[in-house]
Amino acid sequence: MRTLIRGGTVVTCDPSGATFEGDVLVEDGRIVAVGPVAAVLEKAPAARLPGLTRVIDARGCAVVPGLVQAHVHLCQVLFRGMADDLPLLDWLRERIWPLEAAHDERSLAASAELGLLEMMLAGTTTILDMGTVHHYGAVFDACARAGIRVFGGKTMMDAGDGVPRGLRESTRGSLKESDALRETWSGKAGGRLRYAYAPRFILSCTEALFRGTVERSKSSGALLHSHVAEHPDERAAVKKALGDDDVAVLRKYGFAGPKTLLAHGVQLRDDEAKAVARDGTRIVHCPSANLKLGSGIARVADLDAKGVQLALGADGAPCNNNLDPWIELRHAALLAKARTSTTALPAARAFRLATIDGARALGIDDQVGSLEVGKRGDVVVVRIDGPHVEPGGDVMSRLVYACTSRDVEHVLVDGELVVSSGEHRRLDRETVLTRARKQARALSARAGLRG
Ligand SMILES: [Zn+2]
Repeated sequence: MRTLIRGGTVVTCDPSGATFEGDVLVEDGRIVAVGPVAAVLEKAPAARLPGLTRVIDARGCAVVPGLVQAHVHLCQVLFRGMADDLPLLDWLRERIWPLEAAHDERSLAASAELGLLEMMLAGTTTILDMGTVHHYGAVFDACARAGIRVFGGKTMMDAGDGVPRGLRESTRGSLKESDALRETWSGKAGGRLRYAYAPRFILSCTEALFRGTVERSKSSGALLHSHVAEHPDERAAVKKALGDDDVAVLRKYGFAGPKTLLAHGVQLRDDEAKAVARDGTRIVHCPSANLKLGSGIARVADLDAKGVQLALGADGAPCNNNLDPWIELRHAALLAKARTSTTALPAARAFRLATIDGARALGIDDQVGSLEVGKRGDVVVVRIDGPHVEPGGDVMSRLVYACTSRDVEHVLVDGELVVSSGEHRRLDRETVLTRARKQARALSARAGLRG
């Protein structure tokens, strides 16, 4: 199948940052031509043949790389609105863990489907997902059906205070279940599913568990994913329990380097930021969640200047409450100004966090993250001519400061049109919503909470 996206403002996110009025041609899952209007058809005359090419009219739209969210929790989507206005550790122990422990395969599938529907309608084409402890196969299965590109893994918890019995694992059992999931799912759905080992955070994991995941990442190439330096209280608890700061502890365990993605990093000191940059460890900025849980504002512009490889993510529905990459983009850009200066993180820089930088953080920038010939056909067409966007500003200003997820019209993943004119072509909106409402009620009853 061939798709020609015609006459939009193409935002390549390539090394030169080129934007121009032009076309993008996708064939057999890959981008085969990108260029000014007419130039693409000159290079690929077969695209003129009627019947063989789907043509998307992108006038009034920007054509951008698929958006990357490098820290989300699909398992928590059903908890949206069930855990508002609480600090991090209470939020986890009183609400999130009991709810996660109450999941079964059906509620988890419903949660994942709703999150995927929301994120893909908003132009998200790649995610890094941290699951709950059990039934992670249901999440991979939902991802395969939805057509998204995903790195994901069950969360791992073999220690900690206040962990419900249903989530508490043995170290060996946790590693074994993770290995089995990787073997079953990694490389499936045309290579779009990949495993990431995900020990939850220092307070709920032993040293042996962290070290076990590091060994496995080295031998299999799988990513490592956890949380770090999110909230001052959590940091203090780590220091009290282990006598050292969380960043130092993770580095001692070997849980660091280019395969390691750590969410948050809000509390990083200068010396820690430099160490993280030296190691090549990735930090995933989650600005809305940091605000809602009162964790603070990450020094993203400083981290960027120190050479920390950054990405962006919405985190979980109960700490956000959306999984909307456009809100995260806007918050990242605005909060950098409040935290550092008005010139910090200009629109074009911010937009790369959600595209090529996210892809680089995941180690797949040779495949996605920019519109360049040879890359996978992950492409988003977003209106930039709405009444909340017009009449001014260049395309980057429009995308970061004015556009919303409702402006996303079409989404391609691997060249497949998964969202067309604002409707998901694989997930039925009403079915997903009905199932999510029903499963959320059953889940909160099982967890002993009122929905
Ligand atoms: Zn998280």
